[in-house]
Amino acid sequence: MSEETCDVVIIGAGPSGLSAARRLRKAGRSVIVLEARDRVGGRTWTDHIDGQMFELGGQWISPDQTALLALVDELGKETYPRYKDGDSVYIAPDGTRTVYSGEMFPVGESTQAEMERLIGLLDELAARIGPKAPWDAEDAAELDSISFHHWLRQQSEDELACENIGLFIAGGMLTKPATTFSALQAILMAASAGSFTNLVDDHFILDKRVVGGMQSVSVQMAEELGADTVRLQQPVRRIEWSETGVRVSTDELSVSAQSAIVAVPPNLYSRISYTPPLPRLQQIFHQHQSMGLVIKVHATYDTPFWREDGLSGTGFGASRLVQEVYDNTNHGEEQGTLVGFISDVNADAMWALDEETRRRQILEALAEFLGPKALDPRVFYLSDFGAEEWTRGAYATSYDLGGLHRWGQFQNDPVGPIHFASSDIAAEGYQHVDGAVRIGTATAERILGEKS
Ligand code: FAD
Repeated sequence: MSEETCDVVIIGAGPSGLSAARRLRKAGRSVIVLEARDRVGGRTWTDHIDGQMFELGGQWISPDQTALLALVDELGKETYPRYKDGDSVYIAPDGTRTVYSGEMFPVGESTQAEMERLIGLLDELAARIGPKAPWDAEDAAELDSISFHHWLRQQSEDELACENIGLFIAGGMLTKPATTFSALQAILMAASAGSFTNLVDDHFILDKRVVGGMQSVSVQMAEELGADTVRLQQPVRRIEWSETGVRVSTDELSVSAQSAIVAVPPNLYSRISYTPPLPRLQQIFHQHQSMGLVIKVHATYDTPFWREDGLSGTGFGASRLVQEVYDNTNHGEEQGTLVGFISDVNADAMWALDEETRRRQILEALAEFLGPKALDPRVFYLSDFGAEEWTRGAYATSYDLGGLHRWGQFQNDPVGPIHFASSDIAAEGYQHVDGAVRIGTATAERILGEKS
């Protein structure tokens, strides 16, 4: 076992951990980043499958994500817009397919009016409650004690409107059934993206991509820090701590430092053994932040054939197997790529199938939106973060019912010299790469004494 020392040791080389390391290094502090995997980037992962580049993890940037946009700019990287020209496709619960333009789903007039009313209501709540301390709102306990599913049905008797609005947070963001998380958690999600209207607007929320892939942001940060600083294949097993410092150990090395930043998603905190144990409060609430589950579907075709039909590639169907589909063609490529998402219980059902049946059912679901040419991709791949030991789900963690107002206020508190940072406990940019950059930088500044 080799022994090393530095000022701050960081656990996890995702965008949070690397942003923290970068900020600390800028201030002249020595850092060591210990990463479990053989790569950096965490839930951002740009890889080649059968010669085709896919964004297996996080990829899109929206205009409000200014911390990430500034970082991308600082690193000299370029962005490009998602292909959005043409009409979208909506599939109703009875399977009816409608081609439409604009943001509002082509549903009956009264359902449209009801959806607009619910969006307005959620916008007001998001603006009032905000992303920083939703637990401080006077009605926090009330909103946290009812599931988003039931809250929507308290507001409206229009089942289709409730289902469609539910999709944007449940399948679309938290990737859990809307019965399992609270209305307060849904409002935090909307507030962290600026408003509920922003979440509904795919032109806003899925605006830009990074040329070369989102993982390259982390790769470049790690290259700047150097291989002596960022150590791969070093899963942290143990943190020994006192009020004055930490000793963080992997199977091969121990690093002693004044402070540690645990930059891993909260569902993995308990994978590390702490000596002495963390206080009762943390031991309890760390059990109540769990990962959602989503399968990101990638399918590449010889050409983006949907464009010839005047379609943008965008499709929505809250009741379908694939609930959202988008054109995900890479910058400068002639072949066309679609990306789709299969969330929570549908994802469970897909993983229970044999590979051939799963592929067929998923391609049939894509074909529902974009026609029979979707059945025959050149390359097909499913991102499987649920099977990744160092993530265990996707996209991120959220509290179970009642957890956010009970424990959210403590989630950013350090324990002695141990700090916590991940997009899962960010305010603005919650669950997104932008939130990871923000909280990584803010945690570094807290350690530097620049922030309280
Ligand atoms: P992570 O990226 O999870 O990094 C944590 C790191 O810690 C990992 O590298 C992990 O290996 C390491 N680690 C864990 N345990 C240990 C240990 N014991 N010892 C050492 N290392 C450890 N966000 C967007 O902004 N836009 C999107 O389009 C988007 N789409 C997504 C699609 C998918 C499929 C997924 C999975 C995520 C998506 N996200 C998206 C979310 C985004 O990727 C995450 O919010 C972001 O990566 C979180 O960064 P992080 O550094 O906080 O955590």
